[in-house]
Amino acid sequence: MLEAIQFEQVTQIKMSRYPDFRPVTSAYLLDGLLIDSGPAHTAEELTDFLKDREIRIVVNTHHHEDHIAANALLKERYGVELLAHPLAVNKINQPAILYPYQEDAWGYPIPSQVKEIGDSISTQHFRFEVIHTPGHDRDHICLFERKNGWLFTGDLFVGTRPNVVRPMDDVRQIIADLKKVKDLRPQILFPAPGSVRTEPVPVLERTIQYLEDLGHKVMELSNKGLSPTEIVQQIFGNEPPLAELTQQQFSSLNLVKSLLKTG
Ligand SMILES: [Zn+2]
Repeated sequence: MLEAIQFEQVTQIKMSRYPDFRPVTSAYLLDGLLIDSGPAHTAEELTDFLKDREIRIVVNTHHHEDHIAANALLKERYGVELLAHPLAVNKINQPAILYPYQEDAWGYPIPSQVKEIGDSISTQHFRFEVIHTPGHDRDHICLFERKNGWLFTGDLFVGTRPNVVRPMDDVRQIIADLKKVKDLRPQILFPAPGSVRTEPVPVLERTIQYLEDLGHKVMELSNKGLSPTEIVQQIFGNEPPLAELTQQQFSSLNLVKSLLKTG
């Protein structure tokens, strides 16, 4: 399933295997640039959608399977240039290793030959700064268009009160990344999951505050001698159903452990 929504000159393309758009991820199209290419389940549909639209460059915000899977088809059909952070290149070029939930939700991506992105990227009318934000995964980037204050955050921003993360998420680094992009004073935030935010600074501030408070609470309970599992029970109660659905890849325990690791 695919749904397109227009924000100024930016087209949000929401993609999901299922009609209720859960789970959902978005790509963004503007001025011949596509930011992320979505999952394998919608690769054909996205490629068809772009048939009569200008598309020259695809930038992947990171290597995860729900952000890269139309790369190969878009290159084959339209000859686009594929770009990603240097740390993402080898991962996108090689066959992915996925959990069953990932294949179910997103499908299996065909490897594609991406090139390393530099510090910035220009289209005909805009210039985008590449902001390295390694908290969600080490190869994650955001793109920032300073004149309009457009910030494309990939999977960095997933909501104001996240209660689960994957084992690769470094939550202390995510807090630092959120501060870094907040300081750019963006006017519109375009995330991969969820909705576009038209007043991003207070939203980012709330998220940072929530995660910092959570970090304090976790450290406090740890200093009292509680184990990570006991801390999860104290703060969140039980794990949400998503933990079991994702073979414990998304869990509150991962969130607590990540906050303990670097705190
Ligand atoms: Zn991701």
